[in-house]
Amino acid sequence: MTTHIGGCHCGRVRFEVIAPEILTVSDCNCSICSKSGYLHLIVPKSRFKLLSGSEALTTYQFNTGTAKHLFCSTCGIKSFYVPRSHPDGFSVNARCLDGGTIREVIIAQFNGKEWEKQYPTGRGPEFEQ
Ligand SMILES: [Zn+2]
Repeated sequence: MTTHIGGCHCGRVRFEVIAPEILTVSDCNCSICSKSGYLHLIVPKSRFKLLSGSEALTTYQFNTGTAKHLFCSTCGIKSFYVPRSHPDGFSVNARCLDGGTIREVIIAQFNGKEWEKQYPTGRGPEFEQ
């Protein structure tokens, strides 16, 4: 595990996330992720820390309202948010991590378009503690 640093484009939103050097991320085909090209690195709340920019974040919600899509109100970039699959954690956009701490990124396809088929219980697997 290592500490990766990331943030939005303008620099108001900055965060750190504890994750492996080899990241496994999800490329989701749902209505919002496919438009933004978001790559999900999902972590428990305990492994994420917002360093700055809480006042810059705008929340967008749709459909079930479980996910809280957090955008920087200045530059429009969604660098992290609260995902529907893990409302008790965060999804960090691997595209928004600074370079230098990542050895490799493994991309797994995720069929968010057919959510109920992927997650019949309504959410993703529980975090291992
Ligand atoms: Zn910004």
